[in-house]
Amino acid sequence: MKHFDVIIIGAGVTGAAIARQLSRYSIKTAIIEKETDVSFGTSKANSGIIHAGFHSPPGMLKTELCIKGNRSFDILKEELGFSFERRGELVVAFNDEELQILKNLYAQGIKNRVHYLELIGTARLREMEPNLSEDIIGALYAPTAGIVEPYEYCFSLIENARQNGVAMFVNEKVAVIAKQLFGNFVIETDSGLKVSARFIVNAAGLHADEIASLAGITSFAITPRKGEEYLLDRRVGNLVTRIIFPVPTKDSKGMLVIPTVEGTVMVGPTAENINEKDNFSTTREGLRCVFENAKKMIPGIRLHDVITSFSGLRPVATGDDFIIGTTSVQGFINAAGIQSPGLTASPAIAQHVEDILVKEGLSLKVKSSWNPKRTPFIKLRHSIATRDYAGYIKNTAGNPGYNKLVCRCENITEAEVTEAVSRGHTTLDGIKFATRAGMGRCQGSFCTYRVLKLLEQQTGIPIEKITKKGGGSEIIKFPMGKGAPHE
Ligand SMILES: Cc1cc2nc3c(=O)[nH]c(=O)nc-3n(C[C@H](O)[C@H](O)[C@H](O)COP(=O)(O)OP(=O)(O)OC[C@H]3O[C@@H](n4cnc5c(N)ncnc54)[C@H](O)[C@@H]3O)c2cc1C
Repeated sequence: MKHFDVIIIGAGVTGAAIARQLSRYSIKTAIIEKETDVSFGTSKANSGIIHAGFHSPPGMLKTELCIKGNRSFDILKEELGFSFERRGELVVAFNDEELQILKNLYAQGIKNRVHYLELIGTARLREMEPNLSEDIIGALYAPTAGIVEPYEYCFSLIENARQNGVAMFVNEKVAVIAKQLFGNFVIETDSGLKVSARFIVNAAGLHADEIASLAGITSFAITPRKGEEYLLDRRVGNLVTRIIFPVPTKDSKGMLVIPTVEGTVMVGPTAENINEKDNFSTTREGLRCVFENAKKMIPGIRLHDVITSFSGLRPVATGDDFIIGTTSVQGFINAAGIQSPGLTASPAIAQHVEDILVKEGLSLKVKSSWNPKRTPFIKLRHSIATRDYAGYIKNTAGNPGYNKLVCRCENITEAEVTEAVSRGHTTLDGIKFATRAGMGRCQGSFCTYRVLKLLEQQTGIPIEKITKKGGGSEIIKFPMGKGAPHE
């Protein structure tokens, strides 16, 4: 049985950020994930906003870690090479009552030490965002807010952690946690993996309460809060430059209009407390609600620009704050209840967990071999956007795969898919999130079969066994051969 100093359960942004943080030290760390790829939980289905930090009150852990996390993203972008832009966020008011809410949010932000917050009037607002509704009478402006592609960020954390020696287990659902007499934990998964560790960090998102109870801890429960989001075509990508919020409600920051780092626009999310942890449906009512709210702020938004929809479940814990810390079981540390702004807070959560581990007696010595840098993908679409054709030709010389298009909507090349496979992505969704193949207007009509063939060639997995997102989601359901419909 392999032994580790620390085992992290769950490879969303929380687990990934902790794994990368611990990868700099001379300890043995592993991360165990039940899905086929990382970031397949809540971390792939969110708004991608690096929040400024004025939405929640001082004194809450999520507020403190949001502010600290936000400040870490410039250096992380530099080291890991993911896309991150500090576009800024605007909360808009339609009447005097809402203006008063903006003043309260401003005061809260100042108490939280959010930098460069401003209350701004209509003239400046129209100059900044000409497509906003004329009925808006003022806004709170937070220039430090930013946007990322959440899965790209999560993948880059994991890649760098693995480069620096963290062991990764996927397709392994933790089913048993036992404590040995001399203090170590033994973890067993439902497919028979058995590993031991001195410390467990529970970063299991929606299932963190179930993981805690495997260790005998029943002090909290996780309730899913569903958020539906709708993605609009790149054609309307210039509708907004900044993230546009309405005034918040009790349960959420409201339904937003969000520019993405890839030039599209997203609208949503809804916020609905539900009972099931596997209800990822999007609904007619959700669509209506999101569009009504978005159109009120940006009248030019049109329903027929929607190219796809998804929903994510926020893991809301008893008490409504993050639950990060030691437990009644020595060595078992929770990083649970990581609802919004968990993506923003993730770097600070990782530092916080490291501090707890040290207090609990883990000795951490930086490895001389630690390399904070990850090599980003070479992306044709970025060279097209910046018109850097000479740079593209120079950087891709000798690899004809960079000249063969697989996805026409997003300009993804064969070489990008090959690179994604070499970085561990072996499902259609894994390739989609790593490269964007299948994310454009045609939603994979053109590229799906091409990606499947590349996956088959490069992994050796027969095409009928390749899945969308892991066991049970095979895409081609009949035996292949001459005469099969796609041949
Ligand atoms: C609609 C929506 C919009 C949001 N927008 C934002 C935003 O704009 N900005 C922001 O900062 N935050 C946002 N959030 C919050 C953010 O997405 C979450 O805080 C964050 O993704 C939580 O990450 P996590 O790693 O804790 O959980 P997850 O990403 O869910 O990861 C937990 C992992 O644990 C694994 N796991 C569970 N059980 C087991 C087991 N038994 N064995 C092994 N593995 C297991 C799961 O498969 C999963 O991969 C949003 C959330 C939603 C739903």
